[in-house]
Amino acid sequence: MSLPTPNGFLNFTPLTARQAKEMQPVLAGFPFLVSDGFASRIDWSNQNDPLLLQVLPTPLELEQREGFHADPLDEKEYRAAPGVLKKYQGRVILQLTGACPIHCRYCFRRHIKQDTIPNTLAQWQAGLEMIRSDERIKEVIYSGGDPLMVSDKKLFALSNALAEIPHLQRLRIHSRMPIADPKRITPALVEGLKKSRLVTTLVIHMNHPAEMDETVREALARLVDAGIPLYNQSVLLKGINDRLETLVELSEVLLQARVTPYYLHLLDRVAGAAHFQVDRDRGKALVAGLREHLPGYGVPLLVEERPGEGAKSVV
Ligand code: SF4
Repeated sequence: MSLPTPNGFLNFTPLTARQAKEMQPVLAGFPFLVSDGFASRIDWSNQNDPLLLQVLPTPLELEQREGFHADPLDEKEYRAAPGVLKKYQGRVILQLTGACPIHCRYCFRRHIKQDTIPNTLAQWQAGLEMIRSDERIKEVIYSGGDPLMVSDKKLFALSNALAEIPHLQRLRIHSRMPIADPKRITPALVEGLKKSRLVTTLVIHMNHPAEMDETVREALARLVDAGIPLYNQSVLLKGINDRLETLVELSEVLLQARVTPYYLHLLDRVAGAAHFQVDRDRGKALVAGLREHLPGYGVPLLVEERPGEGAKSVV
């Protein structure tokens, strides 16, 4: 028995028929999806493989837990224009798509609706006008979904329109694509990012050192060699990366790939992800341990995002 998947990888997982049936309501809300690249790094014979656990649906997702919501950061309150979130001073988030190359079961935007997101440059005009009319905005953050799901043509059309706004200085892209599908980091993409007038930074999302392989390293190298600074953010996830040795190794593989470990997030309390939660004290103890093993620039900040606050809190 296997799960109905777009790529059939769970044919290789040891699910029983009963487990597969229990999954159906879980999949209706947030389907199983894993990219070929990420799947190739999973040990499919191990039910506790730390990469598999990030993408494998479980009936635990159906449990109602107090304090866990569909929109845990109250993002609907920050919608300034279609696709635009204004949560922070001087920066705006543009959600380019609701689509992703992989469905991470802990994702705080797992309940996002695709129809709220502009799809054409014409549909971005309200957002562009909002940014144009506010000179305090210095930075745009491309988010999603995964913004690199969008074609180069659409991505650069929007970036070029943004670059014409004189007070904008920086473009930051939050993407799991270099890990999920390193082939997407093509020379054409890198060249387009490099050419922008806006100072461009990429923040990747890697949670476990086993997510790194040669294809990922090469994709990251293409970006760094083009002068695009890379940072990583991780989510602290129970049973996946909540051991000191794992986090030390994660920082080591990132530094070796010239990526700065940036944030280690405490889990956002999204409905369906409570089983991933690691408590704050455990997080603090782990980061204290990291300081003993790594140079300061290799230790990510432990952060938490609380709805209604204008910045992440360092824990
Ligand atoms: S937005 Fe990022 S974390 Fe969320 S499912 Fe997509 S790739 Fe995973």
